[in-house]
Amino acid sequence: MSAPFKRSSAKHHVDEHLEELARLADTAGAIVVGTLTQQLDRPHSATYLGSGKVEELKLRIQELGATLVIFDDELTPAQGKNVELMVHTRVMDRAELILDIFATRARSSEARMQVELAQLEYMLPRLTRMWTHLEKMRGGIGMRGPGETQLETDRRLIQHRIRVLKERLADVERAREIQRQQRQSHYRVALVGYTNAGKSSVLRALAADGEVFVEDRLFATLDPLTREVDIGDGYTVLLTDTVGFIRKLPHHLVASFRATLAEAREADLLLHVIDSSHPAWEEHRDVVDGVLAELGLSGRPLLYVMNKMDAVPADMVDAVRARVANLMPNSLFVSAVEPGGLDPLRDELRESLKRQRPVLEVRVPASNGRLIAEIHRDGEVLEQTNEDDTIVLRARLDERSIGRIRQAGARVVVTKGVTRAVSSGAALDTLGTSAHTVPLP
Ligand code: GDP
Ligand code: MG
Repeated sequence: MSAPFKRSSAKHHVDEHLEELARLADTAGAIVVGTLTQQLDRPHSATYLGSGKVEELKLRIQELGATLVIFDDELTPAQGKNVELMVHTRVMDRAELILDIFATRARSSEARMQVELAQLEYMLPRLTRMWTHLEKMRGGIGMRGPGETQLETDRRLIQHRIRVLKERLADVERAREIQRQQRQSHYRVALVGYTNAGKSSVLRALAADGEVFVEDRLFATLDPLTREVDIGDGYTVLLTDTVGFIRKLPHHLVASFRATLAEAREADLLLHVIDSSHPAWEEHRDVVDGVLAELGLSGRPLLYVMNKMDAVPADMVDAVRARVANLMPNSLFVSAVEPGGLDPLRDELRESLKRQRPVLEVRVPASNGRLIAEIHRDGEVLEQTNEDDTIVLRARLDERSIGRIRQAGARVVVTKGVTRAVSSGAALDTLGTSAHTVPLP
């Protein structure tokens, strides 16, 4: 049984939010037997709901034989405890439910540690309540039970564990940082978005990798997964799938997933994937933009990817397109499941990569056929001319190739933008900077 509760301003969202909470409950393995809502100006400080409503809740619980009550809003430790005592049933809030789902879905040791950390931090201020449960199980002796000493010991143990987890996570993060630096020469793209928007499907389809896990469930993906994706014309990008966001994501969780989301922070481009067929896609977009801002990621180059266009009802397609054109011009319309449905995304990635790779003039001695072949293989040659015993190529090349061919004896000059001779380190600096500052149209 869930008992979400809304302030009047959010009234029109109630059904949708309830439906989402029901999906979360289902993901966690619960069966929803009933719902209850109440409209209040502000939550009751002791019990969240008004006292009449708590009574009603108690009756409904008995009637339905419910064993769990889930609140859509965050409860203070005291509110949770009070309601629980009044209705004699386990009470959870949305944050706890999400933490529970994450706990069952975490696979890598890093994700497990992140979830455990978030759970412990959530638990700490609620310890007395947890002890109340224990007391009840021991036969309801009321005020007896483990007492303050035990509580203090537990608190210290938990605080110690939190410190250990934070240190270990910092180690993992350092290792990850090294990995990221090794990938620096790649163009890195991160998929972000509301849970179930189709992020993993986009990665799976672009990377043609059936191993990427896709499920019509919330939070199927907790660990960032990176694949090298071929986007045509010899261009590749490193595409990373990240954990999905949701309304009222517990802040402990956002904090502990900061490291995982560093993948997104380091990306050259963020793809914000949106389920266009969801009636609440605009709200989802706002939630994701909000979390991105919380993570300090607003203002990064970002492209909205309106996914699941195949599932938008035919009579709604024009309206969705018009709304998007109005709201966020930097958008693409795609489908991760239709053949060719991701072509607009592939094209756009290729174009933005081309914009990042400057057009260079490369002068190679005509005798160095091997180097010329290499340039044709690694770059995109736009033009090739002869000047006496020198071959002059106009080509787009990435930083790595430029370094290599310069070492092999070619003279490289940037011909697009500021035309100037490129010498030693300056070349890479210039390119490195432009790769991070070139905005998307
Ligand atoms: P994620 O949580 O963002 O990673 O979402 P998933 O990639 O796991 O996809 C969630 C659900 O949406 C799955 O059932 C997918 O098959 C489905 N899905 C993803 N992309 C599309 C699409 O373009 N069209 C349709 N109709 N369904 C899609
Ligand atoms: Mg996923």
